[in-house]
Amino acid sequence: MNNTKQKGHIHPLTHIQNEVIKVLVEMGFEIALGPEVETEHYNFDVLNVPQDHPARDMQDTFWVKGLEKTVLRTQTSAVQGRYMEKNKPPFKIVVSGKVFRNEATDATHELQFYQIEGLVVGKDISLGHLKGTLHHFLKKLYGDDVRMQFRPGYFPFVEPGFEIDMVCFKCKGKGCSACKQSGWIEILGAGMVHPNVLSVAGINPKDWQGFAFGVGVERLAMLKYEIDDIRLLFTGDLRLVNQF
Ligand SMILES: [Zn+2]
Repeated sequence: MNNTKQKGHIHPLTHIQNEVIKVLVEMGFEIALGPEVETEHYNFDVLNVPQDHPARDMQDTFWVKGLEKTVLRTQTSAVQGRYMEKNKPPFKIVVSGKVFRNEATDATHELQFYQIEGLVVGKDISLGHLKGTLHHFLKKLYGDDVRMQFRPGYFPFVEPGFEIDMVCFKCKGKGCSACKQSGWIEILGAGMVHPNVLSVAGINPKDWQGFAFGVGVERLAMLKYEIDDIRLLFTGDLRLVNQF
């Protein structure tokens, strides 16, 4: 044992989380928090998720036994409704925390993972603001030459919604095994806040617009540190942790 002088240090996931929050706070975002055990109301209803949407199913969501209409939150977006009820626009918030999904684990899926969510509501907010914010944020994390592309994507709480890809960090777009030869890697989901989500919170969508985005922290870490199995991040294996 030669580790008497070894000091502990923060886990790579915490490091990425801190880095992302720092970039967003520098851009004027305020940190908002919410509970991990959440009501169906905030996790789904106020986010415009239809009653029969498959995400509400037992297969995808952990429902808390003995407590009516209570789930382990499946998304940090659950904090949106809580915040909007109590605060008048304009605002820019970042929410970071643990979320849970009832699904089988594999190299890219875990039952529990970390998400970071941004929400901006203001006057005349457009897709341009969303694009500018994400580009700035990805540049800070992955370097100035980062490029991204928007593809249409469906999330009930945004309209229009997008899945956003970043040019492959490994091959820079030429195509390789990391990006399945496409040159692009999916990195986050985003969109313009759905008018129903604003209305439910008592914000008039004719006067106010917004955008939101959500990103998996593990995904950011896996891409940045080239880790190919999400499960490694939760094993506590020091051979991994000590590399950072
Ligand atoms: Zn590639």
